[in-house]
Order: sequence, then C-alpha cells, then structure tokens
Amino acid sequence: MSLDLIKSFVETANNRDCDFPLNNLPFGVCFEKSKQKCFSATVIGDQVLNLTFAEELDLIPDLGFKNVLLNSFMSKGSSARKEIRKILQELLAENSKKMSAVGRCLIPLNSCTNSKAFEVSEYTDFYSCKNHALNASKIIRGENAELSKNWYNLPVAYNGRASSIVITGSDIRRPSGQICDQNNGIVKFEPTKKLDFELEMGTVIGGSLPIGDTLDFEEAENLIFGYVLLNDWSARDIQAWEYQPLGPFLSKSFGTSISPWIVTPEALEPFKTTPPKRVFQLLPHFEDDKAFVFDIDLKVTLVEQGGTETDILQTNAKELYYSPVQQLIHHASAGCGISIGDLMGSGTISGIEKGSFGCMLELSWGGREKIALSSGKKRDFLQDNDTVVLNGTATEEKFKIGFSSCSGRIIN
Ligand code: CA
Repeated sequence: MSLDLIKSFVETANNRDCDFPLNNLPFGVCFEKSKQKCFSATVIGDQVLNLTFAEELDLIPDLGFKNVLLNSFMSKGSSARKEIRKILQELLAENSKKMSAVGRCLIPLNSCTNSKAFEVSEYTDFYSCKNHALNASKIIRGENAELSKNWYNLPVAYNGRASSIVITGSDIRRPSGQICDQNNGIVKFEPTKKLDFELEMGTVIGGSLPIGDTLDFEEAENLIFGYVLLNDWSARDIQAWEYQPLGPFLSKSFGTSISPWIVTPEALEPFKTTPPKRVFQLLPHFEDDKAFVFDIDLKVTLVEQGGTETDILQTNAKELYYSPVQQLIHHASAGCGISIGDLMGSGTISGIEKGSFGCMLELSWGGREKIALSSGKKRDFLQDNDTVVLNGTATEEKFKIGFSSCSGRIIN
C-alpha cells in the first residue's frame, strides 16, 4: 500500500496539514447557500466536489447520487464505493485529463454548510473501551471495582434512539427527567445538573442483512460503509436513577451528534492496528486473530460562552477493546437483521492517563475533582452555552486523514 500523499490539481489538498487530501475522499451532503440546494459531495482540500452534478454530467457512473442522501449509494456496496474512489482519484489527480469538466463541479468548502449525510435507520451504542468501563465502575462502586466477566466476553450495548441523531453544529437542549436526590431519596422531575458528553467513534453500515442471518468477519467488514466522530450526550443524574435493571433510556435519547463527513475504510486502511491485549480469549465467532482498530488521534475542546477554549482531553481510537467489525458480528449474531443506515457508537473512548478520559464523569471523577478551564473557571459537568468540539485525525508521515469536527452547544 502506498503511504505517499496522492497529489491533486486542487493545490490546497497537497498541503501536508490538510485534513482532506486525495487519500481521504470522505462522503457527505452539502447545502450550497447561494443556490439553496443540497447535493451529495466529497471534499478535496478547500473545495467540495458536487457528486450529484458530476453524475448528471456523466463524469461518474450512476451510483444514486441524484437522491442526495447517501443511503442509495451506500446500498450499492463496498465494490461501488471502491470503484468511485478510484474514479475520483483519477478525476482529481494532479495530471487529470478532465480538469475543466471536474472544475465545473467544484465549489469552495466555505460557501457550503453540511447537511445530514444519510437517513439513520437504527442506532446502537456499545461500551467497548475497557479503560472507560473500568473507570465508570470505580466511580460508581469504589476503587476496587472490577468489570463483570461478560464484559470481557462480548461487546456490551443497548439499542439507542435514531430520531435524535443530529449533525455537527446542532444545539442540544438540556433535558429534564426524573432525578433521585442521593442525600434524601426525594425524586423530582427537573433539568439535569450532570450533563455530559461522550467521545465516541460511529460506524455507519452500508449494507443489509436479512433477519435470521449472521456474519463472519469478512462479511461484517464488507457491510461497513465508513466512520464518523460521535458525541453520545448523557445526563448522568437521570441515568443513575433510570438505568437499573435494563440500562440507559432517556438519559441518552435526547441527542447524539455526529461529524458530517463519512470517512471510508479505504482511507483508514493505513491506520489499522491491533486492539489491546485480551483478558480472556474471545469465542471463535469473533475471529479475534483478524481484529483491528484504528490509530486515530482524538481531541475534545470545551468552548465557553464568549469563546475561551480549553482542550480538555486527548486520546486515541486504538484504545477500543472490541473493534467495529467485532461489534457488528456480535450485533448480528442473534439474527436481528442489519439495515442500510444503521449506526453503531463505539462507547466512550478513554486512555489510561488522566487527561485522556473521554467524558466529564471520568475527567472530574464523578464530580469530585473539578476540571480547570483556561478562563480560570472550573467545571464538573456542562453548563448552558458550553460548546463541546470533538476532533479526529489519523496522521502518516506524508499526509493526514481528518474527520472535521463534531460540535454541539448546550442550550436551555
Ligand atoms: Ca455511550
């Protein structure tokens, strides 16, 4: 595999620090302000390529981009995605033979906004990072708490809410819910006082599986269309009261933010790495000898009202114990069926050190150690008008693959 930067005639894409070189080519949907119109797109340097228009011009084969939302293109499978990647890399190459025709489909990135890229079918949130799960256990049950045996044998998950998945830039309203006062046992319905974010990766499914069927490793890998950054907003006080014995419900259902561009498995291929050391050997259907996670640097910035920024954590997606493919194998293993547009959250991604924990519950250790902000203020949980910005970048010596940010502001 080439670890070289693939050069484009769009010169900004050849900059070593560009998030969107020709090696990346993520898929999304843009809204062009001047034309008040949405279109399927990829991004190259500081330009977006209008795939809906390119399809109309017969520059690219008919792969469903006329439908704007990507579900139709996603349904064409991994071979179509690989084919269009090759075609786009030729059309946008430094020595492209169709430079002027391609130029008609290019629009400056800053003249567009991102819209929802695909219709989310169903949403499942996993709990696949050992560091996070262990920290959460210790915060709730004390320093000596361990993870239960099932955690080391299967990727724990719950079925979440697809209707409240929003793209970056969408405000998140502080939810109200039932909260039980820990001191006196009085239950009230009121706004959450422990609003948190969770730094996760999202896996977007681009194929379907009939009810009753299961997946082996290769089949599961082929069903994955790509990856986004995901913020699983959480109300910890509502969660603490409602989660026993069936798990989270309303404390997680009020909003989940995702980054706008779907980064493909092909773009992330050079960043595959082995998952953390196993505590127990996984059962054969997980095909653990093939397991991979991605080396993607992740960062979260808290922006206060007024604009003061604090980078509150840095970690890496390779901290996930269960890989996205293994999550999908497990998801399908009882025969529930899988749909195009399904979204799987990885679970909060935390490193081992403080400063690499993926949510405020851990960063403030249950609210006991406040997080210092660069303004001099402190936080245990989020306040109104705080904005949380997730960023993700995979870095090779000669190029980077960027995700673009996933942000959301808390409103009342
Ligand atoms: Ca979560």
